[in-house]
Amino acid sequence: MYKIIETHCHLDYLKDKPLEEILKEASDNGIQKIMTIAVEPDNFDAVFKLANTYEQIFCSQGIHPHDAKLCTDDALFIIKERQSHPKVLAVGEIGLDYHYDNSPREKQQEVFKDQLEIAIETNKPVVIHSRDADEDMITILNEYAPQMKRKGVIHSFTAGEELARRALELGFYLGFNGIITFKKAENVRDIVRLCPLERILLETDAPFLTPIPHRGKENAPKNIPFILEKIAEIKEVEPRLIEETCYQNSIDAFGF
Ligand SMILES: [Zn+2]
Repeated sequence: MYKIIETHCHLDYLKDKPLEEILKEASDNGIQKIMTIAVEPDNFDAVFKLANTYEQIFCSQGIHPHDAKLCTDDALFIIKERQSHPKVLAVGEIGLDYHYDNSPREKQQEVFKDQLEIAIETNKPVVIHSRDADEDMITILNEYAPQMKRKGVIHSFTAGEELARRALELGFYLGFNGIITFKKAENVRDIVRLCPLERILLETDAPFLTPIPHRGKENAPKNIPFILEKIAEIKEVEPRLIEETCYQNSIDAFGF
C-alpha cells in the first residue's frame, strides 16, 4: 500500500457516502493526511471544524475567484486570524477564473491580491486556482511571489506552458489530479512531463474530476493511487518514486 498525502479536496461537498466511510476508504488506500479546502465564507467553518475534529484532516481558509464577489472585510479577517491555527496550513483557494467569470474580473484580482497579502503577512503558502487567466496570473505572481517566504501550489494545473514555467521558476508546486487520466488532456500530461518531480503535488479535487477508471462516480481521496500511477507512467519511473517524492513535497509545501 502507498503512503500518500491528499493535498486538495472538498470533503464538505462529498454527498454519496457518510464521511466516516470516506475516511475509512481513504486510509485503506494509504491516504494518511488530507487537506480539505475552503472556497467561500459560508464554508470556512465547515472545513475548519473538520480539521479540528479529525487528526488526519487539515484545512485551508480562503475565497475562490468564483466567490470573490462575496468577499468582505470580516471574511478577510477570519482568513488571516485562522492562519495561526496549527491545522490551517494555507490561504486558499484563491486566484483567477476567467472561464466562468462568476465574479467580475477586477473583483477577482482585488480579492486575490488581498489574500496574497495575508499569505505574505502570515508567512503561509497559498493554494491557487487559475483558469483561462494565464497572462494576469503571471503578472500578479511576478509582483507578489518575491515577497512570499513560502509559495504554495497552482492546483489542478491545466494552464499553459508559460505559466507553468514561470510558476516553477518562482518556486511554486503544481498540483495534478484526475484530469491527467482523461483522453483529451494531452496538454496537461505535457506539463507533467516538464514539471520536475520535486515540484509535483497529488490531489483529487474531490468531489470533482473523478479519474479513469471511476468516471461517473463521485470522486474521493481514496482515488489518489490512480493519479500517482498515471504520473509514474507519464514520467516513466517507478510508482514508488512518485509516492516518496510527492509525500515529501507535500510536507515541504504545506508543513503537514
Ligand atoms: Zn478545489
